This record gives sequence, C-alpha cells and structure tokens, in this order.
Amino acid sequence: AAEHQPLAEFVPSRRQYLELKSQYPNAILLYRLGDFYEAFDDDARVVAGDARITLTSRSFGRNGRVPMAGIPHHALNHYLARLLAAGHTVAIAEQVSEPGRGLVERAVTRVLTPGTVAEPALLPVGENRYLAAVCPRGERLGLAWVDVSTGEFAVIEFEGHEAQVLLAEELARLDPAECLIPDNLQSPLPLRGHVTRLEHWHFDPERARGGLMEHFRVRSLAAYGCDEKPAAIGAAGAVLAYLNRTNTALLPLLTGLRTESTGSSVGLDAATRRNLELTRSFGTGGSRGSLLGVLGEPRTAMGSRALRRLVNRPLRDLPELRRRQAIVAALVDDGGLRGHLARQLVATGDLERLTGRITQGLAGVRDFLTLRTSLQAVEAIAEHLLASSPALRRLGEQIDLCLDLQELLDVAVVEDAEGARIRPGFSPALDAAIAEIRETRRWLASLERRERERTGIRSLKVGYNKVFGYYIEVTRPNLSLVPTDYIRKQTVATGERYVTTALKEAEARILAAEEEIAALEREALGRLSGVVTAHAARLLRTASQIAFLDALLALAEVAGRGGWIAPVLDDSEVLHIVAGRHPVVETSLASEPFTPNDCHIGGDGPRVLVVTGPNMGGKSTYLRQIALIVLLAQIGSFVPAAEARIGLVDRVFCRVGAQDDLAGGQSTFMVEMVETATILHQATRRSLVILDEVGRGTSTHDGMAIARAVLEDIHDRLGARTLFATHFLELAALEAELERVANVHVAALERDGRVVFLYKVRPGPANRAYGIQVARLAGLPPWVAERAETLLAELTSGQSTYQLVTREEPLAASQTAGGNEDVACQLALTGFQPVSSACQRLARELCALDLNSMTPREALDWLYEQQARL
Ligand code: ADP
Repeated sequence: AAEHQPLAEFVPSRRQYLELKSQYPNAILLYRLGDFYEAFDDDARVVAGDARITLTSRSFGRNGRVPMAGIPHHALNHYLARLLAAGHTVAIAEQVSEPGRGLVERAVTRVLTPGTVAEPALLPVGENRYLAAVCPRGERLGLAWVDVSTGEFAVIEFEGHEAQVLLAEELARLDPAECLIPDNLQSPLPLRGHVTRLEHWHFDPERARGGLMEHFRVRSLAAYGCDEKPAAIGAAGAVLAYLNRTNTALLPLLTGLRTESTGSSVGLDAATRRNLELTRSFGTGGSRGSLLGVLGEPRTAMGSRALRRLVNRPLRDLPELRRRQAIVAALVDDGGLRGHLARQLVATGDLERLTGRITQGLAGVRDFLTLRTSLQAVEAIAEHLLASSPALRRLGEQIDLCLDLQELLDVAVVEDAEGARIRPGFSPALDAAIAEIRETRRWLASLERRERERTGIRSLKVGYNKVFGYYIEVTRPNLSLVPTDYIRKQTVATGERYVTTALKEAEARILAAEEEIAALEREALGRLSGVVTAHAARLLRTASQIAFLDALLALAEVAGRGGWIAPVLDDSEVLHIVAGRHPVVETSLASEPFTPNDCHIGGDGPRVLVVTGPNMGGKSTYLRQIALIVLLAQIGSFVPAAEARIGLVDRVFCRVGAQDDLAGGQSTFMVEMVETATILHQATRRSLVILDEVGRGTSTHDGMAIARAVLEDIHDRLGARTLFATHFLELAALEAELERVANVHVAALERDGRVVFLYKVRPGPANRAYGIQVARLAGLPPWVAERAETLLAELTSGQSTYQLVTREEPLAASQTAGGNEDVACQLALTGFQPVSSACQRLARELCALDLNSMTPREALDWLYEQQARL
C-alpha cells in the first residue's frame, strides 16, 4: 500500500527509505540503521526466507508497523553470500553523513549482483565466478563472460544449426552465476545461472562496439579478434554496460578481451561433465572425489582456478597440448626444480585478485607490500625456469617480470620496525608532515621533565584523554607551586588539571598533522594504485602465466607420484591404452590394488566395444577410466597407464542409464533418451561415446531394442569410437553382425556360491550374469537366493543365458525350453537369429545407399559384395 500514498504523508525516516527503494525496485535494499542493515516490507520477507533471518517489524510512528529483517553489520558478508546465491541483486544504502541531530543522510554505495561480486570474502577461492551475456543476432549467438575479480574477459560466437548446442556446452563449462540477456528476447535459450534481463539496446553491436573501443581506448577491435563477430561484440558490450551500472570500480581490471574459437576445445555437454564427475563428485557434491580432486593442489588460489579451467576445457589443439606435455614432462623429471618452484609459488599468492583489489582502489599499504613480495617470487620463478629445459625456458622467457613496478614498489612502500608504511622519500609532503608530528610529539614527551624542572613539582604529569585532550596534572599538595601561565581545565579527586597555550598549540598541530598525514597517505596510495592500474594488463598476463605453471606443476606432481606416463597424441582415430587405471577409483581403494585394463579401439580394430559382465563387476569404472584418460591427455596431462596412444577426439559423450531411478520411470527415462538422442545428432567420427547401461530406464524389451538401435546407428552412420556397457547379455550377439563391434567382459568367477570379481577386462562376452550371487552379496536372504537359483535353473534348463539366446535354433525351440512366455517374447523381440539379422543388415545398408549418385557399375559391385557376405 505504501507505494500509492504520496510521500509527504510519511514520517521522514520512512520517506527516506521509500525514496531510496524506488530507485532500486528490482534489488533488495539493505538500509543501514546503526549496527544493522535493515530490509523492510517485501524485501524483509525475502531476506528472512533466503538469508534465514528472523522476521520482525518496526514502527514508523503514525505510518504504523512494517515487516523488517535486520542483518548485523559485522555479519553482512555472510548473509550477502546467501542472498546472492539465491540469485538476488542487493543494493546497500550506507549512512553518508555523521550521525547528529535530525535524519542521517543515506545513499546507495554499491549494488551487488550474483555475477558482479568482487569482495574476496564472498568469492570461492579456487574457482572463477563468471558473469555471462548472451546476444542472439539472426543466425549467430554471441557469448561474453567476465570474472570481475580476476579481469578475465572473453567472447565467442557461434553460427549455424549447432549454435544453440555449442552455447549450451560453453555455458555448462563456465557455469556462470549470472547471465545477461536482452529484455526483448523471445525464443528460449539454454541459459544457466541467474538470468538478468537488460535493455536490448545495450546488445546492439554498433553501440557495443563504441562502448568497447572507448573502454579499451582503441580505434578498432581487430586486435582482440572479434572485429567481425557482431553477436560477440553485442554480448561484450552488454557486460560492459552492466558493470557500468552496478559498479564502475570493477572496470579498470578489464584490460583486454580474448576471442575464443569454436573448434579449439573438446565438446562436453552438461550431462557428460556431470557423469564423468570432472569437477564435482556425486558423493561429496564438491571437487573431492572428482577428477579435479585428484589432480593435486596448486600452491596458489589462481593456480587452482587455472587447473579447474584446464580440466573444464580439454583441447583439440595438438601444438598447444604438446607444449603443455613438454612442460609437465620437464617438471616430472626434475624433483629439485619442483621444490624450488613450489616454494616461490607459495610466496606469489593470488596475484590476480590482488591486482583486482588495487585496480578497484581498495588496496592499502599492506597490499602493495604483498605485490612486491609476489613480484620478487615471480622473478625467482623465472630464473629457475630460464635455467631449465627448453620447454620451461620458453615459458620463463615469456614472463614479464614487471621490474619497473618492482622498482616503483621498492621506493614506495616499506615494512620495518615502524610497520608497513609509505617509504620515506616517496612523498616529500608526507615526510614533512610526519617530521612535523614527530617534532611535536618529542616536544610533548619532554614537556613533563621540563615543567617539573621549571615548577619544582616532582609529581607533575602530562596526560591525555579523549574529552579534554592533553593536560598537565598537579596533585593537591603542590597546587601552591602552579605557575601563572597554567589555565585550569578540570578538577579531579587527587588534584587539578591544566593546559598552557603552548600545549594547546601543540595539540592542534598534532591533530592537523594527523589529518594531513592520512590525506597524504591516501594521495600516495592513490598515485601508486594509478601507476599499477595503468600496468594491470601486464600484471594480469604475468599472473596468468604463473597460475598456468602452478596448475601444470600440480599435474606433474600427481603424475610423478602415480607413475603416470605421457600419452602419444596424434590426429589418428586410434585409442590405444595399455594397463590404464581410473585416476579417482584407484586412489579411493583402501586395501586392494586397482586392476589395470587395456583398451584398443579405432584404427584398424573395432570401433565399438560392448562391455558385459555382472553388476559391480567394474564396467562403469572401465568405461569412465577410458574417457578420463582421453580427457587428461587432452588437457596436456600425463595419464594413469603404462602406454597410451590417443587420436584426439572432438567431443566426448557420456551417458548413464537411469540406474538410481529415484523418480521412478517415465521422466528419468525421458531424460536418458533426450540425452541419447543428442549423441546421435552431434557425434562425429572423431567423437568418443561412452554409454553405460543406457536403455535401462524402461522395460527390458524396449530397453534392449533401443540400445541395439542406438548402437547400430553409431556403428553404421557415425563411426564414433564407442564403449557400451550393458547387462543385456543378448547384445553381445551384435559382434557377429556388425563388422566393427567387439565384445569384452569384466571377468568374475564363482567360488562356493559366491561371486568373486576380478575386474579384468577380457575378450568375448560374459557368459552369465551372476545376478543371484551379487544379490547374495547385497544381503538377499539365503532362502530367497536359493529359490531364485531354482527358478533360474528352470528358465535356462541348465544353460547360460547367453548360450540360450544365441543358439542357432528356431525360435520355437527356445520357447519350449523356457516354457515362459516372457522369456520367449524377449527373444523374439531381440531377433538375434542369424538369418533375420543378416536380412536386417542388408535392408539397412540398402536403404542407406544413395542410388542417384551411384554408377551402374558401383551398384553391381555392391550386389556382388553383399552376395559374398551372405
Ligand atoms: P559395474 O558398473 O559393473 O556395476 P563398477 O564399475 O561400478 O561396476 O565397479 C564397482 C566397484 O568395483 C567399484 O566401485 C570399485 O570399488 C571396484 N572396481 C571396479 N573396477 C576395479 C578395478 N579395475 N580394480 C579394482 N577395483 C575395481
């Protein structure tokens, strides 16, 4: 109701609040009131809910009571984090005049949004926090992203029918906290994070171009590589406009714009990232237990962020991968060097966010001292690199030591017995003010002695209190000796307190000098910040090189500890792994050793492996370890194997069937199928496809039929390197039918009615499921397990399931053998009889022929070939 009343009817405090609030209708307004930041009205309800704060109310005199939620000022960050995590924008109104009589003035001093937070306390340390903007322009989609705490600012533009898919993949990688879109956007986009609509003209490429050129002070965007990418420019312009509105202090850190190309990284969609647990594990919800979690611990927070970026963005760029491998190899080889670098990296700290603090104008003397230490460490790191192998030397040569800044800091700041301070000589005015205050303080210090001598009062004291300032105290028995120039100020229990004109003057001098010193210090720091900000681009480049080195050092340490090897990378379509291990499962096994396994697909061998074996037998582990080894190789890391040759993949798909079917049925199955469908649309011959029990979310018949159809299509049309784990032993029959399919199984054996898992991958299909034995392990009561065994024996008539379904007998025979309609029906559906399957293949291949483009001769050749195969 408040909005509809004229403001004049409100008491002044209520009016002030409503006026401020009206300027930020879409934000939560936190209004400073003494020791609290208060939210009122609807904001109070939101704050109470999302920040988990008690909802109370406050009276505004004749305006009545309104809901209120108060955040204690010292805990502001804590609650801000919760509000931002919930996707809110928060405007903070501070008291800007000194409290006195009447209403204190208030003004909004900063606006925080989920994507524009730069306060270190509100940011995850080892992770980037991105603000993204998406700009659709006809066929094109532009994406820009920025980390306002590190200055990373980049764009990419997608075009063509895959644009949306690629955008979704990129957003899955960045996982932005906030995503800007034009307010007139109609068509749905695959967005992530908190979505903020911004006036659409900010996305206009021409306007955006102008804004960017002005910001970077350039006449063309050509140097940034995005000159010809209007949608990307639109998105970057929107980012800039938004920062201009929320917090201009963030802008100086944006020193450059990187344009990324679409073809350079491995495509990984959100489902694949999740299923492979690249940076987040299902178990812990965090990086522990994920691939990232086992890749060591960089020494700096910026190194942790860099490592996370590497893991999130495997490459297809062979030269860059070889460069990284060479660096890792050199570090693996030289333990001494690793130790030296590690020590210096610790001393380097988070140079990225430190630079951010400085460009935002938040830095104090201590920050500049840290910057100096940091640059000294960088210098030591570069020296070590330069004295090392060629790969490291090249890295060392590229590092800008920022010696000029080091020299500046040497003369600008110092830490000595007097603490961290501006170094004498840097600001003559400051030195003079300090000398002045010292002089006065010295005069004061000796005043007591001098006055005792002059007056002969041996107990005379010079003291200071907040109310009266400096005074001379004389005890009662000595009052008769007080000289005439003493002016009485205060009577205390033991005597009297006096001042003199000289004392008052000294006091005034000290006060003035203190103020002057503070102002001169601010001026000196401002000057220093200005110079450093002017060189922020160089600092950030150095920081990113050191962060990169830190990340690769972590990889080298893990490789050294785990006995990992350098994979051979090439442009082939081979995937050849000897004695590969799962990097995460291996470290999680407490007592027993991990069983290594080989994998040979692509090249002249099979392209599709059907992996069968009992539940818990190691199928998923095997599949994932192959995907992880490929991805590790494509971030430039060593891999856990004895030998590996990897033809670079363009995309990895990892799908897991609805195993933990919590939701039960349709919807989970739907998700599974939608995800599977995307593979068939997007995978190429160069992709790696991992399918784990896909088709499980529905009935056996449907599941098997779908699984088979998917495999056939991958095999015939896509030709992607594929691993398919299934408990449908029936699918093993595909090997006989499709040329490039091979069976492997995870070995297990039965001992005393119990299954023993060997985890060894062997050629050929599994011959039994060990379902009942696994069920026993799971605690199925023995009488139930026994009954199940009897039933199984009846069903299979003493034959293994696999033999049953692949027997070359007419269907009717197996029908009678089982005598169970369900089994018979299942067999009929899978239709694995050789004749019919050959016909199916023939039919498929015939349909796939493009007769219009064939010569009669080719058609005849095809017929001969088919005849020969039958
Ligand atoms: P499945 O997918 O066949 O049901 P998993 O791959 O999930 O089986 O493996 C089950 C468990 O077996 C894993 O959690 C792990 O503890 C163990 N395991 C799997 N593979 C291996 C291996 N190669 N060496 C040792 N233990 C393994």
